[in-house]
Amino acid sequence: MFRNVFSEGVAAAHVRPSQFFNKPAETMDRKEIEQTRDKLLRWTVNHAYSNNALYRKKMDAAGVKPDDIKTASDIHKLPFTTKDELRSLYPFGILAVPRNQILEVHATSGTTGVPTLGFYTKNDIEVWGEVSGRSLVMSGLTKDDVFQITPSFGMFTGGFGFYYGARRVGAMIVPTGAGFSKRQIQYMIDFGTTMVSAVVSYILRLTETAFEMGVDPAKDTKVRKGVFGSEMWTEEMKKRIASAWDMDVYDIYGFTELCGPGVANDCYLHDGLHLWEDHFFVEVIDPKTGEPVGPEEKGELVFTTLTKEAAPVIRYRCRDISFLMDSHSCDCGRTHRKLGYIRGRVDDMIKVAGVAIWPSAVEAVLLKHGQLGPEYQIVIWREKGLDKLKVVAELAREMKRDEVENLRARLQEELHETLFIGAEVELVEPMTLPRQEIGKARRVVDKRAE
Ligand SMILES: [Zn+2]
Repeated sequence: MFRNVFSEGVAAAHVRPSQFFNKPAETMDRKEIEQTRDKLLRWTVNHAYSNNALYRKKMDAAGVKPDDIKTASDIHKLPFTTKDELRSLYPFGILAVPRNQILEVHATSGTTGVPTLGFYTKNDIEVWGEVSGRSLVMSGLTKDDVFQITPSFGMFTGGFGFYYGARRVGAMIVPTGAGFSKRQIQYMIDFGTTMVSAVVSYILRLTETAFEMGVDPAKDTKVRKGVFGSEMWTEEMKKRIASAWDMDVYDIYGFTELCGPGVANDCYLHDGLHLWEDHFFVEVIDPKTGEPVGPEEKGELVFTTLTKEAAPVIRYRCRDISFLMDSHSCDCGRTHRKLGYIRGRVDDMIKVAGVAIWPSAVEAVLLKHGQLGPEYQIVIWREKGLDKLKVVAELAREMKRDEVENLRARLQEELHETLFIGAEVELVEPMTLPRQEIGKARRVVDKRAE
């Protein structure tokens, strides 16, 4: 059975949220942001050096003392921190405060091995609520909204991150958490949900569920605003979601080691993510050499927390790839610098027959075609010693056999032009590929290691 759940991508009309969560902080002038940042950076380095054995050991080994760090321009003197180092300190080695000052702990999904942890003091929870609140108001949340939080409430930071922000805004919260998709849609209708938050692949699942139930999200629900994150996604995907729900789609960024969602978020102009520079400092480096790259140049993001008490991170290589925008101003009035949208992680890159491939590049090619749904899978295997690549995508509507064949041939050509390597394309019926109720979508299946 064919159903065109996702219409071709047309962005919904922009609604301009008129409010700020904390206007003085969000519109500080540049000089004030930089002075605040430098003062907090000095505090963070001192705090980490005095209270955490790893940071002291690393700084001593590099021959750098806290007093050597006076402004952000000195930060290169400090060594990087990696995910493996943080993991090696599991569970309490990353703390810089006594254990009895910790109110909460969260963890990455840790599908491979030891999870990475995030710890929070009372003040860390306050800060999380603040940056999440700023991000949600920037995404249009007001106290009049009914806000459904669909990421799970648990070790994952998603549920609580949105919750702490929404509590501060004063919206009516519907804390469904993940899963039970039919019930989620029913609650949306019953409570008149106006805004929803989700992991990107889960809003796709909810969309399909709504249609399965005979509910057209754009017509039969009041949801007109959504804030999504936690997975790499393209502009094409945003447009698909926006059209299906007739909603404004916002992009939120963050991860466990910093706090969770709320580190950065896009404003109604949808041109990059405002990073809350009074709480986080970012550098962009060449992942191969570790050297800084210039504004507008892509590289690996390296974060330093500025206010985190429980477990500060210094020059943390987070593996996400993006760039820092050159401009220091935005027409929305916020003065915090913008990051480009996250299009991938260092670890997402797959080498096929010696060629580097990014799943986001495949997604961008596929989703330009309205005949395809938003779900896809990239499959890699080895045959007679050679790497093989196949892209499986779902049709969104009924098509004649020759039309399908034409589309398939065209996709193969377009993928070849984009990826510089031949890919087999398989077009399948809707709902053929596996869906996730909880957790992140599995877009890449690499059978070479199996
Ligand atoms: Zn803006």
